[in-house]
Amino acid sequence: MTDQAPIVIVGTGLSGYSLVREIRKLDKDTPVVMVTADDGVSYSKPMLSTGFTKGKDAEGLAQADTDAMAEQLGVTIRTFATVTGIDPAAHELILGDERLTYRQLILAWGADVVRLSLDGDGLDKVHSINDLLDYRAFREALAGGKRVAIMGAGLIGCEFANDLRNGDYQVDVIAPDAHVMPSLLPEPAASAVQTELTNLGVRFHLGTVVDRVDREGEGVALTLGNGDTLQADVVISAVGLRPRTALAAAAGLATGRGIQVNRALETSAPDVYAMGDCAEVDGQVLLYVLPLMACARALAKTLAGERTEVSYGTMPIMVKTPCCPTAVCPPPHGADGQWQVEQDGSDVKALFVSPAGETLGFAVTGRFA
Ligand SMILES: Cc1cc2nc3c(=O)[nH]c(=O)nc-3n(C[C@H](O)[C@H](O)[C@H](O)COP(=O)(O)OP(=O)(O)OC[C@H]3O[C@@H](n4cnc5c(N)ncnc54)[C@H](O)[C@@H]3O)c2cc1C
Repeated sequence: MTDQAPIVIVGTGLSGYSLVREIRKLDKDTPVVMVTADDGVSYSKPMLSTGFTKGKDAEGLAQADTDAMAEQLGVTIRTFATVTGIDPAAHELILGDERLTYRQLILAWGADVVRLSLDGDGLDKVHSINDLLDYRAFREALAGGKRVAIMGAGLIGCEFANDLRNGDYQVDVIAPDAHVMPSLLPEPAASAVQTELTNLGVRFHLGTVVDRVDREGEGVALTLGNGDTLQADVVISAVGLRPRTALAAAAGLATGRGIQVNRALETSAPDVYAMGDCAEVDGQVLLYVLPLMACARALAKTLAGERTEVSYGTMPIMVKTPCCPTAVCPPPHGADGQWQVEQDGSDVKALFVSPAGETLGFAVTGRFA
């Protein structure tokens, strides 16, 4: 019976749409149904932190509406349809009262933002930005305001800081870390980015956290752990992402930091696959675009009948801080080695070299990027 059923993909983010594009290169005919909790509009998520630099609002960042995507790709797209469960034994996806039979099911439903538990009565001014609808809400909230406080100094916090300064906003960044992007960059490269962002006018409050957000006039007052207070019209929370695993775990699929899959993107349930921000592929959670594109290419072949394992080449991450161009390819987690650094002001070239002399990763800023 499931032979007649469609391939069902949950999620219309970069993972879902990349996968269906790859499927259609190999197979124009198999019915594909995409299910998404949002409006299904196609957009490039990395561009959300470039809106002011590129002079685009949420509408400007949208690439194609759902009808156009459905027609172009020859698929059915069900929008504002939230998956509430999976029944792997019956090969059924559960959407509230409805059950949708699948031939193969692909979970590409992304990651949730981490939300801090904060005190205060101004929490409605705190925005997390993890999709185009979030970005639209943020831009609407910002209308008329000029001051933005950003919680978190990781890649996303730093990119929004640069972009908002390019839009002439006053920007404060608050984070508990000693330097920016601590999990991504070695200290000399991080210092270079921080110096150039500071030169651009970003004010950093590192080594502390936000304790309270209280209403004050039209905006809010933030109380920091170090006792300082600062004012903002809107607050961005950029403190991390967590792969969505709850529904998969409830259905009995193996989960860890993400939905666990092997290099063929197979979960522990037959005919169920996972990729993108929700997946832990062979032990690795990689919340970036290049890995998901590699997964989409491999999985499309598997779905077309040629079981294929994903292999990742070198996958540099371009940090979108135009005030200090930066590219990084982190060494594998737990790799043995040391950073070797060449530096001239904010131009940094750092190579992570193993005891055998092999370069296992790099970070470059400024003219080296
Ligand atoms: C501001 C920002 C900048 C970034 N910049 C870069 C960059 O420069 N380079 C880079 O490599 N990466 C970058 N990233 C990360 C990259 O964008 C993500 O890794 C990628 O977009 C994830 O795509 P995804 O399709 O896996 O997940 P998502 O885009 O989150 O899509 C998830 C989909 O699943 C749907 N969904 C979720 N739950 C359900 C449910 N229960 N039922 C039905 N549907 C559901 C959602 O509605 C959505 O359609 C950035 C991320 C952000 C936020």
